Amino acid sequence: MTDLKKYKMFINGDWIDSESKKTFETLNPENNKPWAVVPEASAKDVDKAVKSAQKAFEGQWSKILPRERAKYLRKIGNKLRENAELLGKVETVDTGKLYRETYKQAHYIAEYYDYYAGLADKVEGTVLPIDKPNIQAITTRIPIGVIAAIVPWNSQMFLTATKLAPALAMGNTVVIKASELAPATMFEFAKLIEETGIPKGVVNVITGFGDPCGKALTSHNLVEKVAFTGGPETARHIIKNSAENLSEVSLELGGKSPVAVFNDAHQENAVNGITAGIFGASGQSCIAGSRLYLQKEIYNEFLDKLAARAENIKIGAPMDPDTEMGPLSNFKQLEVIERNIKLTVEQGGKIKCGGKRHSFSNEGYYFPPTIIECDNHNLPVAENELFGPVLSVMKFENEKEVIEKMNDNQFGLSSGVYTSDLARGLRVSNAVRAGITFVNTYRLISPSAPFGGIKDSGYGKEAGIDSIKDYTRVKTIWYYTSDEPTLDPFSIR
Ligand code: NAD
Repeated sequence: MTDLKKYKMFINGDWIDSESKKTFETLNPENNKPWAVVPEASAKDVDKAVKSAQKAFEGQWSKILPRERAKYLRKIGNKLRENAELLGKVETVDTGKLYRETYKQAHYIAEYYDYYAGLADKVEGTVLPIDKPNIQAITTRIPIGVIAAIVPWNSQMFLTATKLAPALAMGNTVVIKASELAPATMFEFAKLIEETGIPKGVVNVITGFGDPCGKALTSHNLVEKVAFTGGPETARHIIKNSAENLSEVSLELGGKSPVAVFNDAHQENAVNGITAGIFGASGQSCIAGSRLYLQKEIYNEFLDKLAARAENIKIGAPMDPDTEMGPLSNFKQLEVIERNIKLTVEQGGKIKCGGKRHSFSNEGYYFPPTIIECDNHNLPVAENELFGPVLSVMKFENEKEVIEKMNDNQFGLSSGVYTSDLARGLRVSNAVRAGITFVNTYRLISPSAPFGGIKDSGYGKEAGIDSIKDYTRVKTIWYYTSDEPTLDPFSIR
C-alpha cells in the first residue's frame, strides 16, 4: 500500500481527501495489480465541489470577456502538449491502452481547447423583428451555470475536452467526475489546470462510484446541466436523477456499429479500416465497428484476408512501441466478452480466429482479436455492445437488404460503408440510422466534426461549431424605445 501513488481531489483550487477519508485502489490492467489510490467522494464532497463551482460562476468567470476565457483554454491546450508524455504514461498504466495512442491523443486533444478558444468570442445574438411599435428586442446567449461532466474510463481526456472546452468558453463552471475504473489521468490533468492559473472553483475534479458520487452530482440542485458519456443503463439512472434538479442532460452512449463491404470495395483499404475500427484500442471504443456485413461474392476471400491480418496483430505490453493491441481495461469486460462468445457458439456462431483469453500474460486482461461468423445478427456477439476486440461477420446479397440489417439494432452511433461507387456510398450513408457514417474510412475524430448518436446511442452532439451553443441558454431582452411614457395598461381597449 505504501508504494502506491496517492491522488487527491481538486476542489475549489485545493487538493483534498474525501471528507470520510475513504479511498479506493486503481488497478493496472497489464498485471491486475493496484498501482494508485484515490479518494472516494461522498455526497458531502460532491456538495463541496458543486458549491465551489457555483461560487466561481457567480464570481468573475461568467462575467469576464470571452477573449480572456479563451486565453485560459489556449493555456490548457499548451499544457496538454507539453505534458503529453506524462499524461500518456499515466493513462496507459491506468487503462492498458497503448502508450503510442494515449501520447498522441493527449497531444491531439489540445486542438479541442484551441478550437473552442477561437469560438469563445464568436457566438452572437439576434435582433428580433418584433410586431409592436416602439419596441426592440434582442436575444443573447448566456452561460448555463454549473455543468456536471461525467466520463467513462476510456478516452477520458478526449471525452472531457468535448465537454469542458465549450463549457468554459461560454462562461460555465464545471465539476468533472472521473471514472472509478481509471481516474488517475484526470487528476494529472487537474494539476495542469491548476498551473494555468484559472480562477479557483472554475474546474473541479472528483472521483467516486456511480452511487453515491455520480448520483449526488447529477441530482444536485445547483447543477444545471449534465454532460454524460457512458453506458445506456447509467444514462437511465441519470435521467431519473435529473428529475430531482430539472437539469438539462446530454447523452453520448454506446454503440454496435455496422460496417458494410460491397463487392466493388478496395479490399486492402477495407481490411485496414475494419481492423482499425474493431481492433484499435482493443475494441474498447464507443464507435467500434463491431458488426461486419460482407457481400456474398467476396465473403470468403475478404474474410480470409481480414482474419490473416487479425491473427498477425502483435499483442503485448502497452508501453512497448511495437505492440499493436494491449490488454482490456478491466476484468468485468473480459467476463462480458467470454460470456457472449460462449452463448454465440452455443447458438451456432463459428469462431474464425481468437475466441479465448490470450496467453501473453496470465495476470493481465489479454484477449486476442476475435472474428465470429454468424448466420444472423441476432446472435449475442452481433447484437450486444461488448466493448472488446470481437467482430461479428454476416453475409448480405444486395444494398436494400444490408441497409435493413444495418438498421436492425437498438444503437445508432457510428457506421461504415466500403464501395467504389460513390453514389451508393452516399445512398447507404443517408439510409443508415446512425449519428456518424464513414465511407471508405473509419475511426476518425476532429474538433470541427460533430460526434454523437441517435436511438439508444443517446442525444446531443459533442464537438463541432454548434455544440458550443449547447453550453448556453437564449435570453430575450425587450427595449422600450420611445421618449413618451407607455400607456396606462387599463386604458387599452
Ligand atoms: P458507465 O456508464 O458504467 O460509467 C460511466 C460514468 O458514469 C462513470 O464515471 C460512472 O461512475 C458514472 N456513473 C455510474 N452510475 C452512475 C449514476 N447512477 N449516476 C451518475 N453517474 C454514474 O460506462 P463505462 O463502463 O465506464 O464506459 C463504457 C460505456 O461508455 C460503453 O457503453 C461505451 O460505448 C460508452 N462510451 C460512449 C462514448 C460516446 O462518446 N458515445 C465514448 C466512450 C464510451
